[in-house]
Amino acid sequence: MKNSKKQIATRRIEILFNNALSNAKNNPRLAQRQAEIAKKISLKFKIKMPFEVSSSFCKNCKKFIAPGIASKIRLGSKPKSIRITCTYCNHTYRKIISQ
Ligand SMILES: [Zn+2]
Repeated sequence: MKNSKKQIATRRIEILFNNALSNAKNNPRLAQRQAEIAKKISLKFKIKMPFEVSSSFCKNCKKFIAPGIASKIRLGSKPKSIRITCTYCNHTYRKIISQ
């Protein structure tokens, strides 16, 4: 019972997130709202968001930052990492990619 609820919630997060991504360019306000709802669902059901979702939220201002639209992504070597810069607050964070 509980599991299927979580599954439905996970599915909703995926759909909302995909919608947010596709709206990010033409309708950033709607994208922001959809992303916020996705985040709320994940908190409510205690679902760990997949990396591509969690990395699309700024760790500083908590906004939804669509990759390549509201954030700049740079790849680093040694150690292999990605650097994500939020275009709202300019906060940069780095994620080391483990191999
Ligand atoms: Zn930010």
